[in-house]
Amino acid sequence: MARYTDAVCRLCRREGMKLFLKGSKCFSDKCPIEKRNFAPGQHGKDRKAKIVGYGLQLREKQKAKRIYFTLEGQFRNYFEKAARTRGVTGELLLQQLERRLDNVVFRLGFAQSRRQARQLVRHGHVAVNNRKVNIPSYAVSAGEEIAIRENSKKLVILEMAKEFASHGTLPNWLEVNRDAYTARVLSLPKREDIQLPVNEQLIVELYSK
Ligand code: SF4
Repeated sequence: MARYTDAVCRLCRREGMKLFLKGSKCFSDKCPIEKRNFAPGQHGKDRKAKIVGYGLQLREKQKAKRIYFTLEGQFRNYFEKAARTRGVTGELLLQQLERRLDNVVFRLGFAQSRRQARQLVRHGHVAVNNRKVNIPSYAVSAGEEIAIRENSKKLVILEMAKEFASHGTLPNWLEVNRDAYTARVLSLPKREDIQLPVNEQLIVELYSK
């Protein structure tokens, strides 16, 4: 399966803002945005034109895609599913992204970033309702129990993630016991539960052309 293999900090520099893709590094003075807040590449510094219209819509879509580490085809599928569902399309799109198991593992504080969470899921360290699930895009549902599997609880990265998560806040739709590495999905996320620097309406406009 295709995946992004270049340096992830380039993604933040391309968007001109911190997307918080690397855990603790994002909060340190090692974050490249602190020193080089311009687009990567030879002409990155020269790109100063104000972005409007289509360009703005495209940037919002790229930003959301990059925050959740999804590829274009998968992101488009999320949009099409949201458009077919009754409700506000932009909000349903974000809700689907937020329900991804790798995102939930990150939100619960079991990983420092969505990328690290994805690796935990892929490597079989995560269980949903007591069954191993190694599909990062698995969509969690209300009432489901999420846990780190028994043999994986001693992983050093979990301890580090716990310390990192102690400075953050847990979304209202999740409940967690960080010492036992168990959690429950209380409800599906609503728009106000998803704190992201993304204007989903612009993404809807882009795909609706
Ligand atoms: Fe983005 Fe984090 Fe890299 Fe800074 S350290 S550029 S916020 S991924």
